[in-house]
Amino acid sequence: MAGVYLSYPFCAQKCTFCNFASGVWPDAMKQRYERMLAREIEQHEWNWLPETVYWGGGTPSLMRPEALEGAMRVIPADHIREATIECAPGSVTAERAQAWRAAGINRVSLGVQSFVEAEARRTGRKHSAEVVQRELSVLADAGIDNVNIDLIAGLPGQTFDSWRASLGWVERLAPPHVSIYMFEIDEDSRLGQEALLGGTRYGADVLPPDDAVAGFYEYAVERLRVLGLPRYEISNFARSGFESVHNLKYWNLEPYIGFGVDAHSFDGSLRWSNVDSPEDYITRLERGASPRADESCSDLEEEHFFVGLRLAAGIEPSAREWSRFKEPIDRSLASGLLVRDAERLRLTDRGFLLSNEVFQEFVHAPAI
Ligand code: SF4
Repeated sequence: MAGVYLSYPFCAQKCTFCNFASGVWPDAMKQRYERMLAREIEQHEWNWLPETVYWGGGTPSLMRPEALEGAMRVIPADHIREATIECAPGSVTAERAQAWRAAGINRVSLGVQSFVEAEARRTGRKHSAEVVQRELSVLADAGIDNVNIDLIAGLPGQTFDSWRASLGWVERLAPPHVSIYMFEIDEDSRLGQEALLGGTRYGADVLPPDDAVAGFYEYAVERLRVLGLPRYEISNFARSGFESVHNLKYWNLEPYIGFGVDAHSFDGSLRWSNVDSPEDYITRLERGASPRADESCSDLEEEHFFVGLRLAAGIEPSAREWSRFKEPIDRSLASGLLVRDAERLRLTDRGFLLSNEVFQEFVHAPAI
């Protein structure tokens, strides 16, 4: 069964490392957006019943609870097992948590990024570790204890000691799910742009070197494993039974429908996405036009490799895929980035670190 993704692009601030279609806009625009998001969902013809809902963005925890509840009400609810909302620390209150629970939300993903205050502040965040601790108990009181904590390895000024301190908080708070992202320098974030220009703003001159970031990641993999949260996907770690049902749909190439700004959809063969500007999204829907920006046909065999191989369990290629991708498979096996277990292929520990190199091998391989 399929998933539903909903985007709420509004934030209290634009974090320096962020490369999402999100930002700070006036309240009046938020209300127009909420109305048009509900309209887009209402206009959808459901050919299947969703199993998961995921509110991302942006900071959907800042959405008016009644607007969120209204949007949830127009999504068929009979088969929903998991409904997640992404939250910025500092935005969780008892009233909001109770309203989310009443609207059907049963999982929260907290974008902590760092428990070290100086690191968090430099990126634009204002929370402390104690705020996160307090908000987790607010969520638990509201009946939401299926929680993910996001951390970023590679923030400006991060050291091995500060990284260990962040993981110490993870150990103390014991969430059942953790996501670890390695900061990538590219022009899609202000911090990345500054680093590419060789500047000093946002701490771009004190970014840890690549080999240190790789060391942070490897340390986290081992520490989380010992804590009973093995890696099940490159960036995701969970206690057994707490893996994200929604995100697994992306990696298992199951269908999902996205609503809102920059929301992506996949129906099993076609992929499409909505426009990535809130103003454009709102005005299109207000005049009765489609918010869809582009559409493309998937090469499911290619995607089976560069999406499915993200999973620790790897993939079981079809006979046709073994034949079509024989050369890249052999090269990745020979370089020790992939390993074969009977009919399955999966990344090695080194392959996880150099996964982009592996995925590159399977893009645009000639079809047979
Ligand atoms: S990181 Fe999250 S809170 Fe910060 S700007 Fe991006 S979407 Fe908003």
